[in-house]
This record gives sequence, C-alpha cells and structure tokens, in this order.
Amino acid sequence: MSSLTTTQISTANMIRKDIRAISSYEVADASGMIKLDAMENPFPLPAELRAEWAEDLSQVDINRYPDANMLELRTQIAQRDGVIPEQIILGNGSDEIIQMLLMATGKGTCMAPAPSFVMYSLVAKWLQRPFSTPPLGKDFSLDADQFLQACAREKVSMVFLACPNNPTGNMWPLETIKSICDLFNGLVVIDEAYGPFSSRAHTHLLSEKVMILRTFSKLGWAGLRLGYLLGSVSFVHELNKIRMPYNINSLTQASAKFLLRHDDLFQQQAKLICKERDRVRHELLALPRIHVFPSEANFLLLRVNDATAIFESLKSKGILIKSMHGADPSLEQCLRVTIGTESENDQFITAMRDILS
Ligand SMILES: *Cc1c(COP(=O)(O)O)cnc(C)c1O
Repeated sequence: MSSLTTTQISTANMIRKDIRAISSYEVADASGMIKLDAMENPFPLPAELRAEWAEDLSQVDINRYPDANMLELRTQIAQRDGVIPEQIILGNGSDEIIQMLLMATGKGTCMAPAPSFVMYSLVAKWLQRPFSTPPLGKDFSLDADQFLQACAREKVSMVFLACPNNPTGNMWPLETIKSICDLFNGLVVIDEAYGPFSSRAHTHLLSEKVMILRTFSKLGWAGLRLGYLLGSVSFVHELNKIRMPYNINSLTQASAKFLLRHDDLFQQQAKLICKERDRVRHELLALPRIHVFPSEANFLLLRVNDATAIFESLKSKGILIKSMHGADPSLEQCLRVTIGTESENDQFITAMRDILS
C-alpha cells in the first residue's frame, strides 16, 4: 500500500511542473440533452447513405495499416478546393495540424487576437512556446495596424487568424486580413473552420507564408476527426516530415472519400444552417435584455444580464449551450449557442423567451 503511494507520487513528479498546473480539456456531458454546445451539424446522415457508407467501410482491410500517403483523398479534396494535392496535409482534426505547426516552426512568439480559438494558445503552452493575445477592439473588431505593431514589438513569428472567429462569430474585413498577410513578415495561419457558413474563402491569399486551415468537423463529420492545411508545396513538404505516420485511420479515409462524393448534401445543410442562424438571431433580437452579435458561423454569441443563471435554466430545460463568461474579459455575461435543427432552435427560442420575459 505505502509503496504504491510512493510510486504514484514519484510518477506525478516526472511530469513537467507547468503541465501539472493546468487542467485537462473539459467536455460537458450532453446525454439526453438538446446539444447546442459544440458547433456540430445537427443533421444525422440519411439512412440510405448510411447503408452505402457501411458497405464501403466493410471493404476496408482493417488488418493493414492505412494508406500512409493518402494521395487519392488529397486529390479529391484538392479538386474540391481548387489547389493541387501537394498543397494539402491532412490531420486528425485541424487541432493536430495546429500542433504540427507549433512543433515545426522556430521558437518565436505566436500571436492570436483575444478572444479566439483556445487550442492555439493551449498547444503553444504544452510546447512551452510563448504566445501573445492582444485584445480585439469594440464589437470584436481587428485593427490591422495595431495588430502589426504588436507583432513587431513582440517579435512574433506566427499568427493565427480564425475567419470567422470563434467564439465571437464575426468575420474581419478582407482588407484587414490582406493587410496583415502583406505586411507581417512571418507565417500567417488563416483558420477557416467556419468557412462553410461564411461569405468568403481566402484561397487567393495562399503564398509561401500564408496558409489556410480547414476542417470537416463543423460541416457534418465531427466524429471522424479530419482537418487539413493548405499551403505552399514546399511548406507542406517540410511539415509532412513531422506528421505521425498513419495519422488518419483507414475508416476515416474510407468515410471521407465516400462523404466527399456527397458534398452537395453537406453544402445544402450548411445553407439551411445559415438561414436558421439568421432566423434565430432575428427572433432573439426581439427579446428583452439580450444582445446578439452578428455571425458568419454556425453559432451565435449572445450577451445577457446573467449568463450563468440563463445557462443553468436552459440546462434544466434540457438544452445544453456554452457559457463563455469568464473565458475572456470581453466575454463577460456571454453565451455561445450552436445552430441546431429548426425544431431544436424553436425549443431554444421558446426557452429563452420564457427565461427573459
Ligand atoms: C472547431 C475549430 C477547430 C478544430 O476543428 P477540428 O478539425 O475538429 O480539430 C479549429 N479552429 C477553429 C476556429 C474551431 O472553432
């Protein structure tokens, strides 16, 4: 008994002190709830597609390692996105690519405006990489000049710009992004996780130093974990050296090849989600004591009087959203709600109406 305790203590001590000081990424238990917390596509795959998909999966040689090079899958994605396969590197979620980027680049400071996607600074912390987070302006606007000055002052080597941004939902003007791409002399990672719901892509900005991150998670395949980076052929060639061999498993590869042949369906669903987003925003704006920020993503950011109380009331009504209160000073009393199906959204609106009026 005592020797076991001693062993446990000494094992924990072998973990870096800064890692012992952080907590693991928490995911709320959503069982039995209307799940509007994680920016998932709310539509289940139609039954007839499931059968075809299962047929494809049943052909996978599960005793063999996956296709390591994935040229066929990268070609399918390249054709869809208007690039060449050599410009694409696939990741087990785009989170894995964020990790690859932070591992492969020098030790210089990274930067993302705050608030933004948490994984950038989180992975930087794991890798003991300095990370700077200058605050966004009023209504989560981004001032290119100020941002560039901060980059110069802090000798930044890589920046992350989520377009549209998470958790704010807004899209910074193209001129702002373009000017940062033109004038910053380090790597720029434009994260288009919410591209399917937004008014523009940034493919035309790709260069030796400008890269784009995309993912299928928000489009409808969150369970697969598949994301990718578009970059220059030479950058992708170098990054590929630190990609874990076989990082994309055979079932994900087979599923992605199948689902890409049905991309139309997911694009239609994305359109529907955008329509619903605009409807939900409109209906919420008619309620008292609420501010609804504009969004080009599949979620809305709300400011209310008492975020914690409203989050809890919704939860007691069986609706799970995400409280952003406390995540950043600018997110005080903010809630983030993912757009669901029409019926889920109706239930959310009704619940909000009950709570607020
Ligand atoms: C959800 C999200 C991602 C991560 O997506 P995965 O491919 O599921 O890892 C990346 N960037 C932003 C801004 C996101 O919101």
